[in-house]
Amino acid sequence: VSAAAVAGTGSLVLTGGMLVTMDPGRRVLTGDLVITDGVITHVGGPSPSGAGGPGARVIDLGGKVVMPGLVQAHIHLCQTLFRGLADEMPLLDWLRQRIWPLEAALDEAALRASARLGIAELLRGGTTTLLDMGTVRHHHAVFEELAVSGMRGFSGKAMMDQGEAVPAGLLESTRASLDESAELARAFRGSAGGRLGYAYAPRFVLSCSRPLLEEVVARSHADGDLIHSHASENPDECRVVRDICGADNVSYFDALGLRGPGTVLAHCVHLGDHEVAQLAAAKTGVTHCPSSNLKLASGIADVPRLLAAGVPVAIGADGAPCNNNLDAFMEARLCGLLARVRHGATAIPSWKVLDLATRGGAEVLGLQDRIGSLEVGKRGDVITVDLGGPHVGPGGDLYGRLVYAARSSDVREVAVDGRLLVEGGQLLSLDATEVSRRAAEVLPGVLSRAGLA
Ligand SMILES: [Zn+2]
Repeated sequence: VSAAAVAGTGSLVLTGGMLVTMDPGRRVLTGDLVITDGVITHVGGPSPSGAGGPGARVIDLGGKVVMPGLVQAHIHLCQTLFRGLADEMPLLDWLRQRIWPLEAALDEAALRASARLGIAELLRGGTTTLLDMGTVRHHHAVFEELAVSGMRGFSGKAMMDQGEAVPAGLLESTRASLDESAELARAFRGSAGGRLGYAYAPRFVLSCSRPLLEEVVARSHADGDLIHSHASENPDECRVVRDICGADNVSYFDALGLRGPGTVLAHCVHLGDHEVAQLAAAKTGVTHCPSSNLKLASGIADVPRLLAAGVPVAIGADGAPCNNNLDAFMEARLCGLLARVRHGATAIPSWKVLDLATRGGAEVLGLQDRIGSLEVGKRGDVITVDLGGPHVGPGGDLYGRLVYAARSSDVREVAVDGRLLVEGGQLLSLDATEVSRRAAEVLPGVLSRAGLA
């Protein structure tokens, strides 16, 4: 499949569906959904004959659910090859002893294979938009793979100009980090027909100097790019940040101007009330990564507290070596379950969980006018879900079935800009067998270069 094959937009008519629109009224409708030249032109009820135009693809859904594509606002495509390679470690050891050495061992070919594997998993599981944090080197390869795949999203190279135990292969000068980021932003901002954008990615406080962070704020504001970082993930990390910066993580970022719409902070597990207030006042986005927080034993982010304060919240799977899947359905389910641990069984209704996985993700990425719901005029980013399996039937609340019973393997069709990328559960824009074969082929070289073979 060539890049050109998935560079444009498509026309698609989905008939006979159950439409979970996630629109402002959270309407659930029966009938048809029409996407014409990439844009949703009809939602619910029978569609007029000839809808979608002469070239439109027509699929009869036979009652399957149609819903907005899922949005994951914190992913590391560069780490997909590392799945299962760092299973029993807390955050700082996990980074210093495994993940950074492995990232430093990625050459361009291995990075490409890693990105492709992650994209294949994401698309097949119904994720149509991502916010990706790269590694330090070769990051253009990730953008090229995203372009070919047909996915929507933002990505950026990781920025690391200081830090304890950062391997030489990742450590860069402040100037080089900024210049290379700006060059990538220029090359890929608005590329692939407007599907891709740039997100400056200062990795986290401990790997970024203050001048670097200040310049990231200035540049991203000037050019309208996003900022994507990690914050307050683990108690040890929070303690070190306080020692070095003299402030709590979110407060430190806030004071530097690293805040507001267009800034997305992953995790935010350990926050003081002053930090929650700062996130809410500035409308800084937070990405909740429940599997990763549990697996690295980081803690449980208090999502109901963030939502009650008015903080925009999205969900994300983080990377394959701390999860170990990139499955939006699993993250949504855990989001709903973990909220109950602290706040009881009514902590967060199912529709609200699904909200975070669709509209919430769109909002933190500044894409709320383009994606996140099935509404006329929005981009044609949609998925279909088969609720006919024995693990989801026979009835009950539709949102509850989607959040707590459905699985990513129930996703049948996936379209971005109206172009069909998955049909009948099979990837169209990538060869899944070849993607897996290639990932297995490059892994031994990475392990050997990382000294872990
Ligand atoms: Zn992360």
